[in-house]
Amino acid sequence: MIYDSIVIGAGLGGLTAAAKLAKEGQKVLVLEQHDVPGGCATTFHRKKFTMEVGLHELDGFGENSFKKKIFDELGVFDEIEFIRLPEFYRTVWKDTDFVFPESLEEAKAKLKKEFPEETASIEKYFRFVTGLGKEIENMPRTKRQKRIKGSLFPFFYPKLARSTLNSAGGFLDKLFHDERLKMILLSNSSYYHDDPYELSLFYFAAGQNSYYSNGSYFIKGGSQKLSDYLMRYIQKQGGEVLLRQEVTSIIIENDRAVGVSYLGEKKKGSPEIQVFARQIIANAAIPQVAGKLLPGVSARRLQQQIAHLKPGPSILTVYLGFNKPPKEIGNENYSTFVIDNSVISTKNIAENYHEGFDKRSFVFVDYGMIDSGLAPEGKATGVICTMDYAADWAGLDKEAYRKKKESVAKILIARLEKVLPGVEKIIEYKETGTPLTIQRYTFNTEGTPYGFAQTLSQTAKKRLPVKSIIPGLYFASAWSSPGGGFSGAVLSGYTCALKVLYDARNEE
Ligand SMILES: Cc1cc2nc3c(=O)[nH]c(=O)nc-3n(C[C@H](O)[C@H](O)[C@H](O)COP(=O)(O)OP(=O)(O)OC[C@H]3O[C@@H](n4cnc5c(N)ncnc54)[C@H](O)[C@@H]3O)c2cc1C
Repeated sequence: MIYDSIVIGAGLGGLTAAAKLAKEGQKVLVLEQHDVPGGCATTFHRKKFTMEVGLHELDGFGENSFKKKIFDELGVFDEIEFIRLPEFYRTVWKDTDFVFPESLEEAKAKLKKEFPEETASIEKYFRFVTGLGKEIENMPRTKRQKRIKGSLFPFFYPKLARSTLNSAGGFLDKLFHDERLKMILLSNSSYYHDDPYELSLFYFAAGQNSYYSNGSYFIKGGSQKLSDYLMRYIQKQGGEVLLRQEVTSIIIENDRAVGVSYLGEKKKGSPEIQVFARQIIANAAIPQVAGKLLPGVSARRLQQQIAHLKPGPSILTVYLGFNKPPKEIGNENYSTFVIDNSVISTKNIAENYHEGFDKRSFVFVDYGMIDSGLAPEGKATGVICTMDYAADWAGLDKEAYRKKKESVAKILIARLEKVLPGVEKIIEYKETGTPLTIQRYTFNTEGTPYGFAQTLSQTAKKRLPVKSIIPGLYFASAWSSPGGGFSGAVLSGYTCALKVLYDARNEE
C-alpha cells in the first residue's frame, strides 16, 4: 500500500504532524520504536506512582497563540485537562528566596517592590518581552503579507530583530545592575539552554512571554494523556500508529525519499518491512536521519548541512515517589530552583552545570502541589532535575553506571533535604534517569530533548526548516524549526503538515 505520509517517530512533533495530515484526509502511517507514543512526552509506572518523564511546565494558551489554535483544531481541550500552576517558580540562592508570581502584573509589582532602584528597567524588560510576543503573534500568515512585511522586517518587527542579535544573559546585563534580580529572571533559563550567555534572546523572551502572559500548566494525569489522545485522534481519522516498530532506513529512489524500511516488533533477525509514501516525515532526531537512516549521497548532503550545528544539553532526573505530599512537611511551591551558593553571578551559571553533582544547581518539581493525577490518594510524586551531558556517563560498565546513578540520587536528595528538611524520610521510591536513558528511549542524539542548541548562532532562521534538502523528506521535531520544548515540537509538527499539504497540492 502507498501512504500519503509516513512519520518516523511518535514524539509530539510527529504526532501533531500526523494528526493534522490525517484530519486533512491524508493516508498516514506513524512508526514508533518505543512501546508507547510521546517520546519525551510520556509517563511510566512504578509501584502505584505515575512518573512524569518530561513535563514540568507547559507555557500557556493566549487567545491568539498558535498552540491554542492547533489544540482547538485537533479537539485537544475536549479531552485533556490542563491545570494552571499556582506560581511560575521559586528561586533559592544565597539569601534570596523569591517566589515568582504566575500573573504578569503581580510579577512586575513584586519585582519592583523587591528591587525599587531597578523599577524603570523592570518596566523596559517586560515591555520588550511582551512586545516580542505580540510581534510573533502578528507574523504574516499569507504569502502576500510575507512579501509586504518581510521586506520591511526590522521596521515591523524591531523586537524580533533585536532578539536574534542578543543573548538572554547579555540583554539582562545591559538592563539591570542587581545580580539577584538577574538570577531570579534567569532561574529557569535551563528550560532553553545551559548557558544564558549563549542562549538566544529570541528563545528565552518568546518562551518567557508565553509563561508570563498566559500562565504555566501541567497536564492532568501526565503528558502521556496528550500523546495518547493525539494517537487516538490520528486513528479516528483513519491513520495508523504502529508501536515497537523501529525504522532502520529511509528508501531513496532517484534522489527522492519514497519509503522506509522498519523492523516489525523490533525483533532482531526478523525480516525488514518496506513501506512507501509520497512524503516521509522524520520526527526522529535530524543527526540520526543524517548518520543512520539515509543512504549514500543523501546522507552526505544532510551531514554537510548540519555539520556546524551543535546539539543542546541533556537532563538528569531523579524521579521520586513520596509516601505523603511534601506540602505536609512544609513545601509551598510547585517548582523550586536551587542555585548553588558557589555560583557568584549569572556569568557562572554555565560552568556550574559542568561541576560535580554536589554543586550543580537543580530544580525540584513537586507534582503534589496540584491535583496532578500522578499518585494515589495521600501520596505524591516529584522530580529533581539538573542539566547533564551524555559524555558524563560514557564508558561505564553496567555496575559502575548503576552505582553512579545511585550516588548522584543520594547527593541531590541530600541537597534537597537542606532546602526542605524531612524530605528524605518521605521518599518511598526513587529512580535516576540520565542522558543515556533519554537516548535509549527516544534515540535522541546525546540524549538531548531540545534538538540543536538554542544558541544565538543557531536561532530559528539558522536551524533547518521543516522541508529538508532531500526531496520528499520533511522534519517535525525539536531539532527542526522553531526549536525545542512541548510548544516548539507541536509547532514544528503543525507547520510541517502545512508544508506537506501545500507541496502536495502544488505537485498535483
Ligand atoms: C526531563 C525532561 C524535562 C522536560 N521538561 C520540559 C518542560 O517542562 N516543558 C517543555 O515544554 N518541554 C520540556 N521538555 C522538552 C520536551 O519534552 C521536548 O523538547 C519535546 O517533547 C520533543 O519532542 P519531539 O517531537 O522533538 O520528539 P521526541 O520527544 O524526541 O520523540 C521522538 C520520537 O521518535 C521516536 N524515534 C526516533 N527514532 C526512531 C526510529 N528510527 N524509528 C521509530 N521511532 C523513532 C522516538 O522513540 C520518540 O518517540 C523536557 C524533556 C525532558 C526529557
